[in-house]
Amino acid sequence: MEKTAQPKSQTVTRRTFDEVMVQTYAPSTFVPVRGSGMYMWDQEGRQYLDLTGGIAVTALGHTPPVLVEVLKKQAETLWHACNYYTNEPVLRLASAMTAATFADRAFFCNSGGEANEAALKLARRWAHDRHGPQKSRIVSFLNSFHGRTLFTVSVGGQPKYSEGFGPLPGMIDHIPYNDIEAAKKAIGDDVCAVIVEPVQGEGGVLPASPAFLKTLRELCDRHKALLIFDEIQSGMGRTGKLFAYMDYGVCPDILTSAKALANGFPIGAMLTTEDIASVFTVGVHGTTFGGNPLAAAVACKVMETINTPVFLSRVESAGASLKKMLEGLAASYPQAFGGVRGKGLMLGLVMAESCRGRAKEVTAIAEKEGLLLLLAGPDVIRIVPPLIIEETHIREAEALLRQSIEKWLGNA
Ligand SMILES: *Cc1c(COP(=O)(O)O)cnc(C)c1O
Repeated sequence: MEKTAQPKSQTVTRRTFDEVMVQTYAPSTFVPVRGSGMYMWDQEGRQYLDLTGGIAVTALGHTPPVLVEVLKKQAETLWHACNYYTNEPVLRLASAMTAATFADRAFFCNSGGEANEAALKLARRWAHDRHGPQKSRIVSFLNSFHGRTLFTVSVGGQPKYSEGFGPLPGMIDHIPYNDIEAAKKAIGDDVCAVIVEPVQGEGGVLPASPAFLKTLRELCDRHKALLIFDEIQSGMGRTGKLFAYMDYGVCPDILTSAKALANGFPIGAMLTTEDIASVFTVGVHGTTFGGNPLAAAVACKVMETINTPVFLSRVESAGASLKKMLEGLAASYPQAFGGVRGKGLMLGLVMAESCRGRAKEVTAIAEKEGLLLLLAGPDVIRIVPPLIIEETHIREAEALLRQSIEKWLGNA
């Protein structure tokens, strides 16, 4: 069919989304056009306090001047050179990330799903080369989320994301999270890797118990399997440590990062040890944009900013204050909320038993009041704000939340 030469309309609006976009999302009715710090503004100039952090991405807030400066400088220097060459920003970033963690080696890509894809491929390849092709089983956890590639939806513990996409990759088991006995039963000599989020994000903001992660480490050691920590959401200072594993005192063999790593400039990273990395030889894995100088330059600055004792202890105290505020709210409205859980600035306000499935009603009203919140499933309001959140924002959020809840309960 011929297409008309004219664009459908001169200006784009939310309606344009329904006309030209593949409908994989159902975005809100407003279109944000600008952001600064903790706030965003829409096409009508309305202001929103943004506690979504772009799903734990904009850790330093919207358009932070230090990152704008780095990005502009790199934009005038070198954008892309392809993997025939390396570049200075990516070498600095790999040096910073390996110096700050258990890892000796870094691989860069463009998203969280891609980082997990690399981690899972590395684990399979490592087991294949070191132990033989029979050692290919992957153990994962119910309700986990690891990305949207075919491999990562298969490994993820939410069947709705893999339904209808078969045939799926095989030899993948899903067992209950935080269930030590189930892990003991599931992890045997044919397992090449166990992949786990130290704090489940999409699955409901659920921290692992320390004993659970310690047991996974012991079982992986006993059965010569690799322990993969997906810290795409829990990492980069979110829980008050650079990565959550540092708080648990349990060290993975492979760690994946993305989301906040470059504050919204697309990047993913897979970190591992020298020994494991050695099975990824030249040509075995790759990506065109991975380790791109623009993304790497921004990520370097994010690392430098977040990975200081002062910044991280501030995350911890802001997290404690936000948690206290949410607990106060839950106590004020026991008919609506059951409690608060999470770690650092990765928190979930859980709906009461009698209000199951209704978290979305609250976040929809809050949005109308000018407060942006996320969900983690139907029963949890997820709050993963920029790590730069201050006491004034917490007080403002409390007022907007109380106002929203009063309206929701029909009291206002
Ligand atoms: C967001 C997320 C992913 C996927 O990252 P993408 O960048 O969307 O591919 C994987 N794992 C966890 C824990 C996440 O939160």
